[in-house]
Amino acid sequence: MNVWDVAIIGGGPAGLSAALVLGRALRSVILIDEDKPRHAAAHSSHGYLTRDGISPSAFRELGREDVRAYELVRMEHDTATGAKKEDDHFHIATASGKSYISKYLVIATGARDQLPPIPGIQESYGISVFPCPYCDGWEHRGEPLAIIGSSQSLFGYVQLIFNWSRDLSVFTDGASMLTLEQKQALQARGIALYEQPIKSLRSSGGQLEKIMLEDGQEIARRIAFLSDTGARDATTIPDELGVGREQDGQYETMEHGSTHIEGLYLIGDAKHYFTGLIGSASEGYEAGVAINRRLVEEDWV
Ligand SMILES: Cc1cc2nc3c(=O)[nH]c(=O)nc-3n(C[C@H](O)[C@H](O)[C@H](O)COP(=O)(O)OP(=O)(O)OC[C@H]3O[C@@H](n4cnc5c(N)ncnc54)[C@H](O)[C@@H]3O)c2cc1C
Repeated sequence: MNVWDVAIIGGGPAGLSAALVLGRALRSVILIDEDKPRHAAAHSSHGYLTRDGISPSAFRELGREDVRAYELVRMEHDTATGAKKEDDHFHIATASGKSYISKYLVIATGARDQLPPIPGIQESYGISVFPCPYCDGWEHRGEPLAIIGSSQSLFGYVQLIFNWSRDLSVFTDGASMLTLEQKQALQARGIALYEQPIKSLRSSGGQLEKIMLEDGQEIARRIAFLSDTGARDATTIPDELGVGREQDGQYETMEHGSTHIEGLYLIGDAKHYFTGLIGSASEGYEAGVAINRRLVEEDWV
């Protein structure tokens, strides 16, 4: 029976970074990844020092190449379908029928977006409809921008995007949750507010052209930011293992991504939905170092 020091589920920046530091610390690691990165729809990724503007697929491949240098790390293209903890060990099952046993388990499965059901939005997502101004705001600074959203966080999101462009139109796809004061604040800054339902987004090859409203209006905008992408957990494995939730619905974690389940860590978007590439890689490194420290102490006795 092969017991791995660490099993990692998810091979994005969070999981790969954890694998890298653990491999370098001479730990045996099994990394299971189904390879469906959240930002796959994007043409380029920004904000990762030394890799600004890189394509998501090239970024992944460079990460895997780094990890491949460490022979104690094995990467498996597979989907983890469940995990349980028995006799102080994690038992992980996969879709291909394999199972793995490990002393520590890192969940780095990212998040999945469930976009609002507006016809045409999916085709433009990551190309001209973006979730994050830190990722794509600079490229469209000063341009006429649409902001689409209806959640409570919309107003703060508009304030944020206003940093990149003063030419904003806000589309709430039905009556908004904005207060009268917030609407007045938008008006005072010349920000147009459309509360009519959106009929569809018209685009060509992913390039947004117009926002079509149910009342027949057509508003020309080539770039939109989406305040709420409907981010969801990519896996229920933390629930199966008994990880609790915070009030905001995200998993309860402690320092370095550790959880109340001994030996279980949650990092990257799996922990808090939008960590970014460099933030996720950083959390992977931090969790890897913390786990190695624990293994060092266990080996010492
Ligand atoms: C359109 C878009 C553009 C973005 N642009 C940027 C940008 O420019 N800059 C930036 O910093 N951030 C950007 N982000 C955010 C960034 O993609 C995430 O914050 C980052 O990828 C999170 O890293 P992660 O390792 O936690 O998860 P991910 O990168 O999502 O990786 C998770 C991996 O786990 C795998 N997985 C999930 N479940 C299982 C399972 N059960 N078994 C096996 N494998 C599983 C997935 O297939 C995936 O390969 C963007 C996001 C989106 C949606």
